[in-house]
Amino acid sequence: MKYFILFGPPGAGKGTQATSMVEKYNLRHISTGALLRKEIAAGSELGLKAKALIDAGSLVPDEIVEGMIESEFMTATDVAGFLLDGFPRNTAQAEDLDAILAKSGNEVTAVVSLMIPDETIRERIRHRAAIEGREDDASEETISNRIATYHGKTEPLINYYKKSGKYNEIDGLGTIEEVHDKIRELMDRF
Ligand code: ADP
Repeated sequence: MKYFILFGPPGAGKGTQATSMVEKYNLRHISTGALLRKEIAAGSELGLKAKALIDAGSLVPDEIVEGMIESEFMTATDVAGFLLDGFPRNTAQAEDLDAILAKSGNEVTAVVSLMIPDETIRERIRHRAAIEGREDDASEETISNRIATYHGKTEPLINYYKKSGKYNEIDGLGTIEEVHDKIRELMDRF
């Protein structure tokens, strides 16, 4: 099994690129953000708890997203691997992911990192707010908090994965097709 991590700040284009990546490489797409939004839409207890944190631009507790990840791993069949989108988002999650995979003799295959500057993050999220109507995209304050959360908690993962030689960075600026081609060139190596 291959385990790819699609990494990058909010608005980098992870969701957009994930769709074509999973098709081309027969991967199961696991977006923790999408799974959490599903719980919110269903009105579950977990969803209620997550909503307040998401709307504040904070992270939801590690055990919640890790539980989701493990159950996705267990229920997927007939795939060549997984594409993790939005997970891990802090060092504890990355360490726990390594431990979860090690139990079955697996490891992270590669990190595909889409990089864009903070100003582009804001522009793209504003644009997405108009199209998708996500509540966490609607307020400038939430967007600022998500950018701060990214720099404070998620960005340190770049070094974490550089140390293990798994980190690969792609310029996330450019058209969807241009970024797609660069990702494909990279993924073809694994
Ligand atoms: P974006 O597209 O902005 O990167 P996501 O759809 O991946 O956002 O996630 C939306 C929100 O869900 C995050 O801001 C965060 O509150 C929560 N979330 C998603 N994944 C995780 C995770 N791995 N750990 C903690 N919180 C998460």
